[in-house]
Amino acid sequence: MSLTQLIHTVSIKVQLNEEDLLEKLKILAEVVKDEIFPKERLTHYNIDLSTIETILNELLRMGFASKYFTYDCEDTDSVDFAVNLNEKCAHCGQTLKNSENHLINESYKLNSIYLELIKDQKKENLKKYLIDDFRPNLEKLKSRTKKLIPFLGAGVSIPFRLPSWGDLLRELERGLSDTNREKYIDIINKGDYLRALSFLKLYSGLYKNESMIKKEIKNIIKRKYVKESNLSHHNIIDILKLDTQFILTTNYDNIVSDFLRDYRDEFIMPQILETLDDLQDLMDDNSQKVIHLHGNVEIPNSMIVTKDDYDKLYEANQIKYVLNGIMSNRTLLFIGFSFEDEYFKDLYDKIFTYIKGEHFIIVPNLHPFDAEELLRRHLIPIGINVNKNEKHDFVKGIKTVLEELY
Ligand SMILES: [Zn+2]
Repeated sequence: MSLTQLIHTVSIKVQLNEEDLLEKLKILAEVVKDEIFPKERLTHYNIDLSTIETILNELLRMGFASKYFTYDCEDTDSVDFAVNLNEKCAHCGQTLKNSENHLINESYKLNSIYLELIKDQKKENLKKYLIDDFRPNLEKLKSRTKKLIPFLGAGVSIPFRLPSWGDLLRELERGLSDTNREKYIDIINKGDYLRALSFLKLYSGLYKNESMIKKEIKNIIKRKYVKESNLSHHNIIDILKLDTQFILTTNYDNIVSDFLRDYRDEFIMPQILETLDDLQDLMDDNSQKVIHLHGNVEIPNSMIVTKDDYDKLYEANQIKYVLNGIMSNRTLLFIGFSFEDEYFKDLYDKIFTYIKGEHFIIVPNLHPFDAEELLRRHLIPIGINVNKNEKHDFVKGIKTVLEELY
Protein backbone atom coordinates (compact mmCIF):
# COMPACT_ATOMS: atom_id res chain seq x y z
CA MET A 1 0.00 0.00 0.00
CA SER A 2 1.25 3.47 -0.85
CA LEU A 3 1.41 6.36 1.60
CA THR A 4 -1.32 8.13 -0.37
CA GLN A 5 -3.67 5.17 0.10
CA LEU A 6 -2.76 4.90 3.75
CA ILE A 7 -3.47 8.58 4.34
CA HIS A 8 -6.72 8.41 2.44
CA THR A 9 -8.05 5.47 4.46
CA VAL A 10 -6.91 6.68 7.87
CA SER A 11 -8.04 10.28 7.34
CA ILE A 12 -11.64 9.09 6.98
CA LYS A 13 -11.39 7.00 10.15
CA VAL A 14 -9.92 9.79 12.30
CA GLN A 15 -11.84 12.55 10.57
CA LEU A 16 -8.81 14.69 9.90
CA ASN A 17 -7.91 16.29 6.61
CA GLU A 18 -5.18 14.46 4.74
CA GLU A 19 -2.47 17.09 5.16
CA ASP A 20 -2.92 17.32 8.90
CA LEU A 21 -2.89 13.54 9.17
CA LEU A 22 0.34 13.35 7.14
CA GLU A 23 1.99 15.74 9.60
CA LYS A 24 0.90 13.52 12.47
CA LEU A 25 2.17 10.40 10.70
CA LYS A 26 5.52 12.09 10.13
CA ILE A 27 5.78 13.14 13.78
CA LEU A 28 5.02 9.56 14.78
CA ALA A 29 7.94 8.32 12.68
CA GLU A 30 10.30 11.04 13.91
CA VAL A 31 9.50 10.64 17.58
CA VAL A 32 9.47 6.90 18.05
CA LYS A 33 11.55 5.74 15.06
CA ASP A 34 11.97 1.95 15.36
CA GLU A 35 11.57 1.79 19.13
CA ILE A 36 8.81 0.09 21.10
CA PHE A 37 6.65 2.82 22.57
CA PRO A 38 3.46 3.37 24.61
CA LYS A 39 0.85 5.57 22.92
CA GLU A 40 1.21 8.24 25.62
CA ARG A 41 4.60 9.05 24.17
CA LEU A 42 2.89 11.10 21.47
CA THR A 43 0.64 13.36 23.48
CA HIS A 44 3.24 16.14 23.66
CA TYR A 45 2.91 16.95 20.02
CA ASN A 46 -0.52 18.53 20.01
CA ILE A 47 -2.22 15.24 19.07
CA ASP A 48 -4.99 14.01 21.35
CA LEU A 49 -4.99 10.49 22.72
CA SER A 50 -8.12 9.24 20.93
CA THR A 51 -6.66 10.32 17.56
CA ILE A 52 -3.41 8.54 18.43
CA GLU A 53 -5.35 5.38 19.31
CA THR A 54 -7.29 5.39 16.06
CA ILE A 55 -4.16 6.02 13.99
CA LEU A 56 -2.28 3.21 15.74
CA ASN A 57 -5.15 0.78 15.32
CA GLU A 58 -5.29 1.50 11.60
CA LEU A 59 -1.51 1.09 11.29
CA LEU A 60 -1.77 -2.26 13.07
CA ARG A 61 -4.62 -3.38 10.84
CA MET A 62 -2.67 -2.52 7.68
CA GLY A 63 0.55 -4.13 8.84
CA PHE A 64 2.48 -0.86 9.23
CA ALA A 65 2.93 -1.39 12.96
CA SER A 66 3.10 -4.28 15.43
CA LYS A 67 1.74 -4.57 18.91
CA TYR A 68 3.85 -5.43 21.93
CA PHE A 69 3.39 -5.65 25.66
CA THR A 70 6.02 -4.01 27.78
CA TYR A 71 6.13 -5.23 31.34
CA ASP A 72 7.77 -4.28 34.54
CA CYS A 73 8.61 -7.35 36.63
CA GLU A 74 8.33 -6.29 40.25
CA ASP A 75 10.01 -9.40 41.64
CA THR A 76 13.23 -8.90 39.74
CA ASP A 77 12.92 -5.18 39.11
CA SER A 78 13.42 -5.55 35.36
CA VAL A 79 11.68 -4.18 32.30
CA ASP A 80 11.10 -6.16 29.12
CA PHE A 81 8.59 -6.80 26.36
CA ALA A 82 6.52 -9.66 24.97
CA VAL A 83 4.50 -10.24 21.81
CA ASN A 84 1.61 -11.83 23.64
CA LEU A 85 0.52 -12.33 27.23
CA ASN A 86 0.78 -16.15 27.15
CA GLU A 87 4.53 -15.72 27.15
CA LYS A 88 6.54 -16.22 30.31
CA CYS A 89 8.39 -13.36 31.99
CA ALA A 90 12.00 -13.52 30.84
CA HIS A 91 13.14 -12.67 34.37
CA CYS A 92 11.00 -14.58 36.89
CA GLY A 93 9.51 -17.23 34.59
CA GLN A 94 5.84 -16.69 35.45
CA THR A 95 3.23 -16.49 32.69
CA LEU A 96 2.47 -12.83 32.18
CA LYS A 97 -1.28 -13.28 31.83
CA ASN A 98 -3.04 -13.24 35.20
CA SER A 99 0.20 -12.72 37.11
CA GLU A 100 0.09 -10.17 39.89
CA ASN A 101 3.67 -8.99 39.97
CA HIS A 102 3.88 -7.49 36.48
CA LEU A 103 2.86 -4.03 35.39
CA ILE A 104 1.82 -4.53 31.79
CA ASN A 105 1.48 -1.78 29.23
CA GLU A 106 0.24 -1.99 25.65
CA SER A 107 2.96 -0.81 23.31
CA TYR A 108 3.62 -0.48 19.61
CA LYS A 109 6.44 -0.61 17.13
CA LEU A 110 6.44 0.93 13.66
CA ASN A 111 7.47 -1.46 10.90
CA SER A 112 10.33 -0.60 8.60
CA ILE A 113 8.04 -0.45 5.56
CA TYR A 114 6.17 2.44 7.24
CA LEU A 115 9.37 4.27 8.14
CA GLU A 116 10.55 3.90 4.54
CA LEU A 117 7.33 5.39 3.17
CA ILE A 118 7.72 8.43 5.41
CA LYS A 119 11.37 8.80 4.44
CA ASP A 120 10.49 8.74 0.75
CA GLN A 121 7.77 11.30 1.28
CA LYS A 122 10.24 13.67 2.97
CA LYS A 123 12.71 13.24 0.14
CA GLU A 124 10.03 14.11 -2.38
CA ASN A 125 9.01 17.18 -0.39
CA LEU A 126 12.58 18.41 -0.23
CA LYS A 127 12.85 18.05 -3.99
CA LYS A 128 9.70 20.11 -4.39
CA TYR A 129 10.48 22.90 -1.92
CA LEU A 130 14.23 23.38 -1.79
CA ILE A 131 15.62 25.50 -4.62
CA ASP A 132 18.54 23.43 -5.92
CA ASP A 133 21.10 26.27 -5.78
CA PHE A 134 20.72 26.34 -2.00
CA ARG A 135 21.33 22.66 -1.33
CA PRO A 136 24.95 23.28 -0.22
CA ASN A 137 23.69 25.94 2.22
CA LEU A 138 21.23 23.48 3.71
CA GLU A 139 24.05 20.96 4.11
CA LYS A 140 26.06 23.61 5.94
CA LEU A 141 23.11 24.34 8.23
CA LYS A 142 22.70 20.62 8.92
CA SER A 143 26.26 20.48 10.18
CA ARG A 144 25.55 23.19 12.76
CA THR A 145 22.42 21.97 14.50
CA LYS A 146 24.18 21.55 17.84
CA LYS A 147 24.70 25.29 18.25
CA LEU A 148 21.49 26.34 16.56
CA ILE A 149 19.12 28.96 17.99
CA PRO A 150 15.87 29.73 16.12
CA PHE A 151 15.15 33.44 15.82
CA LEU A 152 11.47 34.00 15.09
CA GLY A 153 9.78 36.92 13.37
CA ALA A 154 6.15 37.91 12.85
CA GLY A 155 5.66 35.47 9.96
CA VAL A 156 5.64 32.56 12.39
CA SER A 157 2.56 34.01 14.15
CA ILE A 158 0.50 34.67 11.03
CA PRO A 159 -1.12 31.17 10.96
CA PHE A 160 -2.65 32.02 14.34
CA ARG A 161 -4.54 34.91 12.76
CA LEU A 162 -2.11 37.41 14.21
CA PRO A 163 -1.33 40.25 11.83
CA SER A 164 2.08 40.68 10.24
CA TRP A 165 3.99 43.78 11.36
CA GLY A 166 2.63 45.73 8.40
CA ASP A 167 -0.97 44.64 8.95
CA LEU A 168 -0.77 45.38 12.66
CA LEU A 169 0.29 48.92 11.83
CA ARG A 170 -2.46 49.27 9.24
CA GLU A 171 -4.96 48.48 12.00
CA LEU A 172 -3.72 51.47 13.95
CA GLU A 173 -4.42 54.06 11.26
CA ARG A 174 -7.54 55.37 12.99
CA GLY A 175 -7.31 58.98 14.03
CA LEU A 176 -5.06 60.04 11.17
CA SER A 177 -6.19 62.67 8.68
CA ASP A 178 -6.38 61.62 5.00
CA THR A 179 -3.04 63.18 4.03
CA ASN A 180 -1.32 61.75 7.04
CA ARG A 181 -2.87 58.36 6.50
CA GLU A 182 -1.45 58.24 2.99
CA LYS A 183 2.02 59.10 4.27
CA TYR A 184 1.66 56.56 7.09
CA ILE A 185 0.71 53.72 4.70
CA ASP A 186 3.59 54.73 2.49
CA ILE A 187 6.08 54.28 5.34
CA ILE A 188 4.53 50.92 6.25
CA ASN A 189 4.76 49.68 2.68
CA LYS A 190 8.49 50.33 2.71
CA GLY A 191 8.76 48.05 5.70
CA ASP A 192 10.00 50.91 7.86
CA TYR A 193 7.77 49.86 10.74
CA LEU A 194 9.36 51.67 13.64
CA ARG A 195 9.35 54.96 11.79
CA ALA A 196 5.67 54.36 11.04
CA LEU A 197 4.99 54.07 14.76
CA SER A 198 6.95 57.22 15.49
CA PHE A 199 4.83 58.91 12.83
CA LEU A 200 1.65 57.60 14.42
CA LYS A 201 2.63 58.95 17.80
CA LEU A 202 3.15 62.40 16.30
CA TYR A 203 0.06 62.68 14.12
CA SER A 204 -2.66 60.38 15.43
CA GLY A 205 -5.49 62.02 17.29
CA LEU A 206 -6.15 58.72 19.01
CA TYR A 207 -2.76 57.36 20.02
CA LYS A 208 -1.15 60.32 21.66
CA ASN A 209 1.40 58.43 23.64
CA GLU A 210 3.28 55.20 23.53
CA SER A 211 1.41 53.48 26.28
CA MET A 212 -1.84 53.90 24.33
CA ILE A 213 -0.22 52.35 21.27
CA LYS A 214 1.12 49.47 23.35
CA LYS A 215 -2.26 48.86 24.97
CA GLU A 216 -3.92 48.74 21.57
CA ILE A 217 -1.29 46.32 20.22
CA LYS A 218 -1.91 44.10 23.23
CA ASN A 219 -5.68 44.23 22.56
CA ILE A 220 -5.23 43.32 18.90
CA ILE A 221 -2.96 40.36 19.71
CA LYS A 222 -5.29 39.06 22.44
CA ARG A 223 -8.39 39.51 20.31
CA LYS A 224 -7.06 37.90 17.14
CA TYR A 225 -5.14 34.90 18.47
CA VAL A 226 -6.72 31.59 17.50
CA LYS A 227 -4.86 28.43 18.49
CA GLU A 228 -4.41 26.60 15.19
CA SER A 229 -4.47 22.85 15.70
CA ASN A 230 -3.83 21.66 12.14
CA LEU A 231 -0.13 20.80 12.19
CA SER A 232 0.28 21.39 8.47
CA HIS A 233 -0.75 25.04 8.90
CA HIS A 234 1.92 26.28 11.30
CA ASN A 235 5.56 25.67 12.25
CA ILE A 236 5.59 25.92 16.05
CA ILE A 237 5.88 22.18 16.70
CA ASP A 238 8.52 21.95 13.94
CA ILE A 239 10.53 24.61 15.76
CA LEU A 240 10.11 22.96 19.18
CA LYS A 241 11.21 19.63 17.74
CA LEU A 242 14.62 21.19 17.08
CA ASP A 243 15.05 20.92 20.88
CA THR A 244 17.31 23.95 21.06
CA GLN A 245 18.48 25.42 24.35
CA PHE A 246 16.26 28.45 23.94
CA ILE A 247 14.39 30.38 21.28
CA LEU A 248 14.77 34.05 20.39
CA THR A 249 12.02 36.23 19.02
CA THR A 250 11.10 39.81 18.34
CA ASN A 251 7.41 38.85 18.58
CA TYR A 252 5.36 40.06 21.53
CA ASP A 253 2.90 37.15 21.51
CA ASN A 254 3.16 33.96 23.60
CA ILE A 255 2.25 31.40 20.95
CA VAL A 256 5.49 29.42 21.26
CA SER A 257 5.27 29.29 25.06
CA ASP A 258 1.66 28.17 24.72
CA PHE A 259 2.72 25.13 22.65
CA LEU A 260 5.84 24.64 24.76
CA ARG A 261 3.67 23.97 27.80
CA ASP A 262 2.09 20.93 26.13
CA TYR A 263 5.36 19.87 24.60
CA ARG A 264 7.20 19.75 27.92
CA ASP A 265 4.29 19.13 30.26
CA GLU A 266 5.15 22.20 32.32
CA PHE A 267 4.89 25.91 31.92
CA ILE A 268 8.18 27.55 30.95
CA MET A 269 8.05 31.24 31.74
CA PRO A 270 8.86 33.38 28.70
CA GLN A 271 11.61 35.91 29.35
CA ILE A 272 12.14 39.53 28.48
CA LEU A 273 15.56 41.19 28.54
CA GLU A 274 14.93 42.77 31.92
CA THR A 275 14.35 39.41 33.57
CA LEU A 276 17.48 37.83 32.12
CA ASP A 277 20.11 38.65 34.67
CA ASP A 278 21.66 35.29 35.30
CA LEU A 279 22.93 34.18 31.93
CA GLN A 280 24.69 31.16 33.37
CA ASP A 281 21.32 29.87 34.57
CA LEU A 282 19.93 30.25 31.12
CA MET A 283 22.86 28.43 29.57
CA ASP A 284 22.48 25.53 31.95
CA ASP A 285 18.78 24.80 31.71
CA ASN A 286 17.95 23.67 28.13
CA SER A 287 14.26 24.34 28.67
CA GLN A 288 13.70 25.92 25.22
CA LYS A 289 12.39 29.02 26.95
CA VAL A 290 11.41 31.88 24.72
CA ILE A 291 13.36 35.12 25.01
CA HIS A 292 11.42 38.13 23.76
CA LEU A 293 14.04 40.69 22.71
CA HIS A 294 11.39 43.30 21.93
CA GLY A 295 9.17 42.69 24.93
CA ASN A 296 6.13 40.59 25.76
CA VAL A 297 2.44 41.33 25.35
CA GLU A 298 1.74 40.53 29.02
CA ILE A 299 4.02 43.38 30.05
CA PRO A 300 3.02 46.20 27.68
CA ASN A 301 5.74 48.48 29.01
CA SER A 302 8.37 46.02 27.89
CA MET A 303 7.23 46.26 24.26
CA ILE A 304 9.54 48.02 21.82
CA VAL A 305 7.20 49.86 19.47
CA THR A 306 8.76 53.11 18.33
CA LYS A 307 12.05 54.08 16.75
CA ASP A 308 12.98 55.71 20.04
CA ASP A 309 12.36 52.53 22.04
CA TYR A 310 14.29 50.56 19.49
CA ASP A 311 17.31 52.84 19.33
CA LYS A 312 17.48 52.96 23.11
CA LEU A 313 17.24 49.18 23.35
CA TYR A 314 20.13 48.56 20.99
CA GLU A 315 22.33 51.22 22.60
CA ALA A 316 21.77 49.91 26.12
CA ASN A 317 24.22 47.58 27.78
CA GLN A 318 21.68 44.91 28.61
CA ILE A 319 21.19 43.75 25.03
CA LYS A 320 24.93 43.82 24.33
CA TYR A 321 25.47 41.78 27.46
CA VAL A 322 22.79 39.25 26.55
CA LEU A 323 23.71 38.87 22.89
CA ASN A 324 27.43 38.75 23.63
CA GLY A 325 26.95 36.44 26.55
CA ILE A 326 24.62 33.84 25.15
CA MET A 327 25.12 34.11 21.42
CA SER A 328 28.82 33.75 20.93
CA ASN A 329 29.50 30.61 18.92
CA ARG A 330 25.81 30.19 18.17
CA THR A 331 24.23 29.89 14.78
CA LEU A 332 20.97 31.76 14.40
CA LEU A 333 18.27 30.53 12.07
CA PHE A 334 15.89 33.34 11.12
CA ILE A 335 12.36 32.17 10.42
CA GLY A 336 9.38 34.39 9.62
CA PHE A 337 11.29 37.55 8.70
CA SER A 338 11.18 39.25 5.36
CA PHE A 339 14.71 40.19 4.36
CA GLU A 340 13.29 42.84 2.05
CA ASP A 341 12.02 44.88 5.00
CA GLU A 342 14.17 47.76 6.14
CA TYR A 343 13.18 46.70 9.63
CA PHE A 344 14.78 43.31 9.33
CA LYS A 345 17.95 44.55 7.62
CA ASP A 346 18.56 47.07 10.35
CA LEU A 347 17.72 44.60 13.11
CA TYR A 348 20.04 42.02 11.65
CA ASP A 349 22.91 44.46 11.23
CA LYS A 350 22.55 45.54 14.86
CA ILE A 351 22.50 41.98 16.16
CA PHE A 352 25.38 41.02 13.94
CA THR A 353 27.61 43.75 15.43
CA TYR A 354 27.37 41.97 18.77
CA ILE A 355 27.58 38.35 17.81
CA LYS A 356 29.41 38.09 14.45
CA GLY A 357 29.64 34.61 12.92
CA GLU A 358 27.53 33.10 10.15
CA HIS A 359 23.77 32.74 10.36
CA PHE A 360 20.94 31.37 8.25
CA ILE A 361 17.59 32.54 6.95
CA ILE A 362 14.79 30.70 5.18
CA VAL A 363 13.56 32.81 2.24
CA PRO A 364 10.70 32.09 -0.19
CA ASN A 365 11.37 32.18 -3.95
CA LEU A 366 14.85 33.63 -3.60
CA HIS A 367 16.77 34.38 -6.77
CA PRO A 368 20.50 33.58 -6.53
CA PHE A 369 21.16 37.21 -7.50
CA ASP A 370 19.40 38.47 -4.35
CA ALA A 371 21.20 35.85 -2.30
CA GLU A 372 24.38 37.86 -2.87
CA GLU A 373 23.11 40.71 -0.73
CA LEU A 374 22.38 38.35 2.12
CA LEU A 375 25.77 36.69 1.87
CA ARG A 376 27.47 40.07 2.13
CA ARG A 377 25.76 40.36 5.51
CA HIS A 378 27.06 36.90 6.52
CA LEU A 379 23.52 35.65 6.32
CA ILE A 380 23.34 32.33 4.47
CA PRO A 381 20.02 31.87 2.69
CA ILE A 382 18.02 28.68 2.26
CA GLY A 383 15.78 29.49 -0.69
CA ILE A 384 12.53 27.58 -1.00
CA ASN A 385 9.90 27.36 -3.72
CA VAL A 386 6.61 28.73 -2.45
CA ASN A 387 3.40 28.96 -4.41
CA LYS A 388 1.96 32.26 -3.22
CA ASN A 389 -1.53 31.26 -4.32
CA GLU A 390 -1.55 28.36 -1.91
CA LYS A 391 -2.27 29.56 1.57
CA HIS A 392 -0.10 27.18 3.58
CA ASP A 393 2.67 26.60 1.09
CA PHE A 394 5.24 28.77 2.89
CA VAL A 395 4.58 26.91 6.13
CA LYS A 396 5.10 23.61 4.32
CA GLY A 397 8.34 24.83 2.77
CA ILE A 398 9.71 25.84 6.19
CA LYS A 399 8.59 22.49 7.59
CA THR A 400 10.50 20.68 4.86
CA VAL A 401 13.73 22.53 5.71
CA LEU A 402 13.34 22.03 9.47
CA GLU A 403 12.67 18.31 9.00
CA GLU A 404 16.17 17.99 7.61
CA LEU A 405 17.60 19.20 10.91
CA TYR A 406 16.18 16.61 13.33
ZN1 LIG B 1 8.64 -11.43 36.08
